[in-house]
Amino acid sequence: MQNSEEIWRRVDDKKEEFIALADRVWGMPELCYTETKSCAEHVAMLERQGFRITRNVADIPTAIIGEAGEDGPVIAILGEYDALPGLSQEAGIAEPRPIAGNNNGHGCGHNLLGSASLLAATAVKDYLAANGLKGRVRYYGCPAEEGGAAKGFMVRSGAFKDVDIAISWHPASFSGVNKPESLANTRIDFTFIGRASHAAAAPHLGRSALDAVELMNVGVNYMREHMPDGARIHYAMLDGGGRAPNVVQARAKVRYLIRAADLTQLNPLIARVRKIAEGAALMTETKVETRMVSAVSNLMGNTPLEKLMDDNLMRIGPPDFDDADKELAAKFQATLSKEDIAAAYRRHGLKVEPGKVLCDQIVSREVTGGGGVGSTDVGDVSWVVPTVQARGATCAIGTPFHSWQLTGQGKTGYAHKGLVHVAKVMAGTAVDALRDERIIASAKEDLRARTAETPYICPLPADVKPALDMSVED
Ligand SMILES: [Zn+2]
Repeated sequence: MQNSEEIWRRVDDKKEEFIALADRVWGMPELCYTETKSCAEHVAMLERQGFRITRNVADIPTAIIGEAGEDGPVIAILGEYDALPGLSQEAGIAEPRPIAGNNNGHGCGHNLLGSASLLAATAVKDYLAANGLKGRVRYYGCPAEEGGAAKGFMVRSGAFKDVDIAISWHPASFSGVNKPESLANTRIDFTFIGRASHAAAAPHLGRSALDAVELMNVGVNYMREHMPDGARIHYAMLDGGGRAPNVVQARAKVRYLIRAADLTQLNPLIARVRKIAEGAALMTETKVETRMVSAVSNLMGNTPLEKLMDDNLMRIGPPDFDDADKELAAKFQATLSKEDIAAAYRRHGLKVEPGKVLCDQIVSREVTGGGGVGSTDVGDVSWVVPTVQARGATCAIGTPFHSWQLTGQGKTGYAHKGLVHVAKVMAGTAVDALRDERIIASAKEDLRARTAETPYICPLPADVKPALDMSVED
């Protein structure tokens, strides 16, 4: 298609500004729902590029939408900008070296994710204006992907109700169309309330909330043998009841993350975990209070859009990494285990190629991979709007997500090239859809057929609000 050259050129025209944006956001890593500075950077860029801006989407202060164009179909391009705790790391250094005074780091590459999506939206805006085409492009600045399920709240608030198709991406070892596989999940905090007492002088008067948490964990660990294949449960201690072993712990809190293939498997599992919590409270004569922090649906595929994005990927080919890129990437790859590297190949259905450090191919969407599947709040968008995502090569092959190695590569030359490359893929996909209404019609029909038997039910109950305080330690 002859549109490709023009849309790629429009991405190239503005790439330097957006690389600088990604680098600035890398340098201000902010956690779930506290992305104030990063969001302000994205708003400033939207203003500079002439988008119409909606703030405080779904009553979330760091959720924004920028829109451009008139009438016609609405294409949403989704970006993120949240970071992770404990993953601070100097840029470009292939050994663990946290930055003093900052615990957070962009260990999932969301500095690149947001910037590439905003660059793609800007190029589509410029393309529509230059060609006098009807159609609107929207950039969705989505916070709190790392556990906050912000997109689910945005869906629930109706922010996607007039969107025709949605496009996004995630950094990865290899470039290709993202396989629409992810687990539905939910996070629930269980707070046990007991009674304090002197642990030696009056132990019989105390009722330990910490005991309750421990018994709950034991109960859940016994349940693991009897879960559906592929289900996952993890927990983190938020409050162990204090530092004094001589005081019976009156309050303790554990956060559970429960995952399963889809909501029909997840919901019964949640009910069983709740029963175990009640059992632990009964055994210890404590009380338990629960609060749902987040919930996401599994990803829904969309064959017409996946084909369209695959065509765009084949047309553009892999990113053009040079010897300097490979030299630095090799240093990071040398810090990885053989198993890390093998897992990246396995996930994309590829044979391990020893000595290869950066992606030099487009992974076919036909191959079936294997291995670990996570969760994403793009899942909820994909149930209500035809959605497609790319994987964009931005790191040494095998780099695990949520690692210091990923943070350390977030400002490298090859990460920047990957950012520009995937922006072209997304912008090209959007322009193709805007130019041919049959594509949008078939994408909608595909989603309708997939959800005919099981319509979307938001996993977030109506009374659950975004956990804007979830990154604040208590
Ligand atoms: Zn991520």
